[in-house]
Amino acid sequence: MTRLGCRCVAESVLENVRKETQAFIDKGNRAPSLAVVLVGSDPASQTYVRKKAEAAESLGFLHFQYTFDEDSKEDDILSLVGKLNEGEDVDGILVQLPLPSHISEKKIIDAISPEKDVDGFSPVNMGRLAIGEESFIPCTPKGIMRTLSYYGIETAGKKAVVIGRSNIVGKPMALLLMQKGIDATVTVCNTKTPDLREYTKDADIIIVATGHPGTIDSSYVKDGAAVIDVGVNRIKDETREKGFRLVGDADYSSFKDRDVMITPVPGGVGLMTVSMLMENTLEAAVKRRGR
Ligand code: NAP
Repeated sequence: MTRLGCRCVAESVLENVRKETQAFIDKGNRAPSLAVVLVGSDPASQTYVRKKAEAAESLGFLHFQYTFDEDSKEDDILSLVGKLNEGEDVDGILVQLPLPSHISEKKIIDAISPEKDVDGFSPVNMGRLAIGEESFIPCTPKGIMRTLSYYGIETAGKKAVVIGRSNIVGKPMALLLMQKGIDATVTVCNTKTPDLREYTKDADIIIVATGHPGTIDSSYVKDGAAVIDVGVNRIKDETREKGFRLVGDADYSSFKDRDVMITPVPGGVGLMTVSMLMENTLEAAVKRRGR
């Protein structure tokens, strides 16, 4: 098994963003700025928001955080998004998902100005991605493409299987892999796919993003394939101080004696998501007001 660790990939992205940010500031621009909106107290969301804030601050970005109670009104969040859209001092807006069930994620995401939508989830950016136009690309799939490239994993002419079809991972992932210039032949699986193994066993690249530990193990994968594990699942572990540990959607240990490349969890694509968010925020700043 070859471990495709993402720390080095993420660090090289952040180093590049740091250099480009300095060049941007040296031209007389103010630092890029990111507004992050958190609703409720989901512990995983709090962790993600903290990591994003730390990364933004380490790059010298301006960073604004807005925290709402779990029972906040949808209108209050929409009103803040409206203000952030108008705010001259805001380059990128990110609303941390998932939102509490009484708030429509669709309404909130639709309200974010496409020019500040650094998560790339708005219909305009998703539509642009679908037709191959320049857009903000959702951070996790973008980070996966960067990881494949960093490790020299060929995509052209290869069979790729994406397991999961969510708007934030599976769908944009499939769109990226099928793009001209990337040129993979892509199959997208979901819970109604009758026999997952039927599709994965011939795949050169497998992206698993289901949110279920053990969705695939080594019996699903041929020799020489690359497995990108997007899953971040907390499972109970009394031996850990926090009482849980993180695992992916693939059964990592089953690959131990196999000729397969695989991203670990933790230490995998989660790190890429944050670095791509920083890259997208710099891109938003340069597009909006670069000199
Ligand atoms: P999601 O919205 O729940 O979507 C899961 C998708 O997987 C659905 O399309 C579902 O199919 C499909 N699925 C579930 N079980 C399946 C199975 N046994 N076989 C085939 N398809 C199956 O989840 P998500 O937001 O895409 O996230 C997926 C995972 O990635 C989660 O663990 C999440 O925490 C993680 N994640 C990580 C990052 C990161 O930065 N590393 C970022 C985002 C998400 P149906 O459509 O048929 O229901």
